Formats: sequence, structure tokens, C-alpha cells
Amino acid sequence: MLPETTSTTLALKPVININNLNHYFGEGSLKKQVLFDINLEIKAGEIVIMTGPSGSGKTTLLTLMGGLRSAQSGSLTILGEEICGASKKQLTKLRRQIGYIFQAHNLMSFLTAKENVRMSLELHDEFLHENIDKKAIAMLESVGLGHRVDYYAESLSGGQKQRVAIARALVSHPKIVLADEPTAALDKKSGRDVVELMQKLAKEQGCTILLVTHDNRILDIADRIIYMEDGQLKNNS
Ligand code: ADP
Repeated sequence: MLPETTSTTLALKPVININNLNHYFGEGSLKKQVLFDINLEIKAGEIVIMTGPSGSGKTTLLTLMGGLRSAQSGSLTILGEEICGASKKQLTKLRRQIGYIFQAHNLMSFLTAKENVRMSLELHDEFLHENIDKKAIAMLESVGLGHRVDYYAESLSGGQKQRVAIARALVSHPKIVLADEPTAALDKKSGRDVVELMQKLAKEQGCTILLVTHDNRILDIADRIIYMEDGQLKNNS
């Protein structure tokens, strides 16, 4: 048996731990339960894909894990911190440690690729004394956009925008990346390239990815696939 402190043990530490989580929208007679008794553990370095029908609660669960909305009942531990019922300050602190990639990439179209990536670094005090321009450019080079650093986001193709979004999410070396339908707006080839890039960078940086998708063509990049239906996780072992 290996001792508790070996790197093997540390590498398998859970970064997301969810127990008996329930979530509701609305109030009074309009109150509707959308997540039912969710239990899930995701270990450091895992790439987990969550799939399932539209309206089943995938995005809601993702936003709770990312501290983008507050969980209501149960336990939700992210990077060792309980965030169910957490204060706004705690959630803000958590959000700095997470990278987000969305379907619509959410870039600032009037800023260049480099400026979009820089913005992510500017949110982190630990990078204030570094050359953040250089860091942003290096990250853009690693997503194959070294030749587009000074192009405005609005002038880039869909696949290139999503690469900038990946660079922005990963440049601060987050421990967790949450991605919501990152290939939905892309053609088959660009979608595949984008997720393979995410997979490669995540493995290099040792970060954990939870990716929500309807796209059956990318399921094979996952270490584990979980399935959500009617607000319940069906196979989360
Ligand atoms: P999925 O990501 O699987 O498509 P969602 O998490 O977006 O599912 O939605 C789950 C359920 O929660 C749906 O019935 C949806 O209509 C409802 N829902 C999502 N967001 C809100 C909201 N802000 N207010 C009220 N209901 C919501």
C-alpha cells in the first residue's frame, strides 16, 4: 500500500465533491426543482463529459460548480471549500481559480486576441509582476494563434475565437476548467480540433475538465462520461 503523501495519491485527490445536492428555480407556487439529489466526485486531472437531453439540468449543475450561482441545499465542495450557501466574497475567490469556456466564447469583440487573454491575467494579483503581454502571447502561440495576437476578436473565425477562449481560460493555470457546449457553434473539424486542444493543454497543465455537450463526436476525449436526465445523474460511478 502506498503512503498517503505519494504523488499518485495527490494526483487522485477529488477537486469536486458533491453530496445530496438539490436545486430549485422560482418561488412559492412557481418553485420548481431542477436538480435532484446529485452525488458526484471528480478527481484532479480527470476529463469528465456530462451529456443528456436538453433541459435536464446540465448547465445548472455546471454554473453551481463554478460559483456562478449559489447552491441551495446539500454539499458542494470545490477545491476543498464548501460553497453551498457561500458568501459572494467566497464565490468570487473561487471563480478566480476556475477557467470557463462557453458555447458563445464570450470574447470582447472590440479587443484583440491578446487583450482578451490579458484580461484574464489582470484579475490575478499573482501575475501583476510578470510580463503579462508575453504570457498572453505564449498562450496564444500554444493554441496555434501566434499569427493572430493583434487581430480583433470580431475578425477571427468561429474556431479561432474558441481557441482564444481556451487560451483565456487556461492562461492563469486554473485547477478546474468548466466548458458548456464548447463545440456547438463549430463545424465538425473545428469542433474536434478545439476539444483535442483542450484535452492536450489540460493534460499538460494537470487541470481537471468538466465539459457539457450534446456532441456525440467528442465523447471519446473523456476519461469518464456522466449522463444527466430529468435533473438526476444516472451513472456517476
Ligand atoms: P440543460 O443544460 O441540460 O439543457 P438547464 O440546466 O439549462 O438544462 O435547465 C434545467 C431546467 O431548469 C430546465 O427546465 C430550465 O427551463 C430550467 N431553468 C434553467 N435556468 C433557469 C432560470 N434561470 N430560471 C428558471 N428556470 C430555469
